[in-house]
Parts: sequence; C-alpha cells; structure tokens
Amino acid sequence: MSIKENLLRIKESLPQDVHLVAVSKTKPIPDLQEAYEAGQRIFGENKIQEMSQKWESLPKDIEWHMIGHVQRNKVKYMAEFVSLIHGVDSLKLLIEINKQAIKHNRIIACLLQIHIGQEDSKFGLDKKGLIELLNNPIFITLKNIQIKGLMGMASFTNNKEQVKEEFKTLKNTFLLTKKILPNIDVLSMGMSGDYPIAIAEGSTMVRIGSSIFGNRNYT
Ligand SMILES: *Cc1c(COP(=O)(O)O)cnc(C)c1O
Repeated sequence: MSIKENLLRIKESLPQDVHLVAVSKTKPIPDLQEAYEAGQRIFGENKIQEMSQKWESLPKDIEWHMIGHVQRNKVKYMAEFVSLIHGVDSLKLLIEINKQAIKHNRIIACLLQIHIGQEDSKFGLDKKGLIELLNNPIFITLKNIQIKGLMGMASFTNNKEQVKEEFKTLKNTFLLTKKILPNIDVLSMGMSGDYPIAIAEGSTMVRIGSSIFGNRNYT
C-alpha cells in the first residue's frame, strides 16, 4: 500500500471531528510530500531540529506539531512556526515557550501531557502536578501561550482493557481540567496500535505514524 492509500483509508475511518496528525518522524521529505499531495496538512515530529529542516523545505500551509519531549533550550528553534506543542509537562517549559512566543509576537498553542501509561519512561504530569500547575499564580500571567487541551500515551501492551482504562482516565482528567480552563477542546490520544480505542473513549486528535508511512528504521 502506498502512503496515499494508507492515508485515505485511515481518514475515511475517522469520525469527522477527529483530527489526524500524520507522524512523520524519521521519514524523508519525499514521504511527507506524498502525504501532502494526498491532502494531509498536519504533520507530527518528535525532534525539533528535524522538524525545522522539514518546515524549511516543505509548503508553508503545513501545520507542524511537536509531539515529543521538549528540551527547554531548543524551544527557540521552533517558536517561529510550530502550530501545537503536545508534550508540555512543566511550568518551567511553559515559561520558556511563553518567552519565545513573545519574541515572535505569537501565541503558541500547547497541550499538557498527562502520564497515563505504566512505563516509567513516559513523560507527563500526574493529577497532582496538573492541579498544581493550573493553580500556580505564574500560570495565568503567561499571555503568549494558550492551553488547548491534553495529550497522553497509553501503555505499550496488547491488553486492550488496560489501554481503554488509561484513555478513560485521560478523558476524566480532561473533563476535570475543563472546569478550570473552559475553552479547552483538544484531547490528543491514540496512535497506530490503539487509535480506534482512543476514539471510542473520546479522542479528538489521533497521532498516527507507522500505519501511514510504514515502520520506522532507526539505524
Ligand atoms: C511516534 C509517536 C506516535 C506515532 O506512533 P505510531 O505507532 O507509529 O503511530 C504518536 N505519538 C507520539 C508521542 C509518538 O512519539
């Protein structure tokens, strides 16, 4: 199957109000070009430098989403163009994003990443950390960032019940957050292996890589 065929098949299977982020990390520019020509406009990357290079070479109507862990000292390289930062999990990082957004006279949209999976390696806030962040007096002073919603990654497991419970937890955390930030409307959850479960549990944005572009080769 070609990238175009994969993309169109997946798009057809998504409800109308669920946004598709085509996760193109590690993939060469011609692969992204093919997806672009098939109508895809939202791409997700997890390395800031790689995303910047792709942004420079590809059409400017693409929305670039940073879906990986963000190091504070690299925010400056994407502040000019990034459309949505999915992996924000600290006030320190938000302060830096706000600072860089001011330099570019922009408001940068962010999602707060919530830890829902069992793996220790996965980044994200727990419920306590989330509440503390939202109630920190500095948080409301950050005028050049806009929190659009939450993001999370389920455990990497074949246990569908577990994955479902983790997505349910994230949805509940989303509803809780919405009481404090009534305008949030993005719930970024679901990848190639689990997006149908995520959608059933209320996802509004899925991040799909290998089912579109094929397996990644990290060597
Ligand atoms: C790589 C990645 C994805 C996409 O994974 P696939 O299994 O290839 O669909 C989604 N979200 C994040 C945060 C990722 O790093």
